[in-house]
Amino acid sequence: MNEMSPIRPVRRQSLRSVAELAAAGFAMPGPAEALAALERRYAVAVTPIMASLIDRSDSKDPIAAQFLPDPRELDVLPGESADPIGDEAHAPVEGIVHRYPDRALIKIIHACPVYCRFCFRREMVGPGGKALTGAAFDRAIAYLASRPEIWEVIVTGGDPFMLPPRKVDELMAALAAIGHVKIVRWHTRVPMVDPGRVTPAFVAALRSGGKAVYVGIHANHPREFTHEARAALERLADAGIALVSQSVLLRGVNDDPAVLAALMRAFVENRVRPYYLHHPDLAPGTSHFRLSIAEGQALMRKLRGHLSGLAQPTYVLDIPGGHGKAPIGPVYLDDDADGAAIVDRDGRRHPYPPAPRR
Ligand SMILES: *Cc1c(COP(=O)(O)O)cnc(C)c1O
Ligand code: SF4
Repeated sequence: MNEMSPIRPVRRQSLRSVAELAAAGFAMPGPAEALAALERRYAVAVTPIMASLIDRSDSKDPIAAQFLPDPRELDVLPGESADPIGDEAHAPVEGIVHRYPDRALIKIIHACPVYCRFCFRREMVGPGGKALTGAAFDRAIAYLASRPEIWEVIVTGGDPFMLPPRKVDELMAALAAIGHVKIVRWHTRVPMVDPGRVTPAFVAALRSGGKAVYVGIHANHPREFTHEARAALERLADAGIALVSQSVLLRGVNDDPAVLAALMRAFVENRVRPYYLHHPDLAPGTSHFRLSIAEGQALMRKLRGHLSGLAQPTYVLDIPGGHGKAPIGPVYLDDDADGAAIVDRDGRRHPYPPAPRR
């Protein structure tokens, strides 16, 4: 073995504190007291594969920006909220959020493999966050069973792919017994940030209930598509699980047309259909990640017509206060009294005649 090898040993454990990150050679900006205050407030974790992706020589590295604590997180602006999308107002029983008639969330576990600095549930997630078990789990399932209008159950957290396969089997068996639930959709970041958890046993457990299973894959930068992540996505897709994407539009991470295009193409290449590009929520201490809606629309315009239709996400915003998600453009239709103009991908307007009078 070459003793001079510059390759760092492969780390097996996640880095879970400012001290561990510093010892591993990650420079974090700001005074030690601020970083200490920060780690008391919000959980820290960076998985080995994500740590290996960070370029330590680049102070603007887009992977580092997502996971390394930054003292700017201590600046909480007016309008930011611990519950930015109003989950509390729609929680009929512990662990359930039921905002839309036909679908409900079940928050099954509050831990994640990584803790994203922009997380909209950052006040609720962390390694101590408990799983929904025992009587609380039974009450959540009973609620889903009692509401025949619930057609889809969205399994979330935290990150529900943190569950062991046995717990996934248990959940899928409970849902299988509810006839009106036809779709089970999971939302996870695990295939990208901790792909080894997507084992054949885990995939088999997802399929075990006999429902149509969708998995929403959260990724924000094309570099997250490592060889291991691609293999995890392949295991899911090959098992007949439909994959859709979720990304958060983040300043300093993916607020660039070439990066966004590469991200959307990477999803499609891995059989993940782009679904949502989220405008960042008003979570506390996340203003350095936010851009304006006009900037987001300008980025979306660069995708439309320049990339395959398969690679187009819907740009959405969760309305603060629990009013649900709304698509926020851009729009390609300009209505006026005499008809409409349609705007093409280059911004040129083309008239379109009104419908004939009847
Ligand atoms: C985002 C969300 C959903 C899912 O919305 P879709 O538009 O179907 O993806 C469902 N329930 C709640 C409470 C949500 O926040
Ligand atoms: S994985 Fe999801 S829930 Fe967990 S910290 Fe990141 S954004 Fe939040």
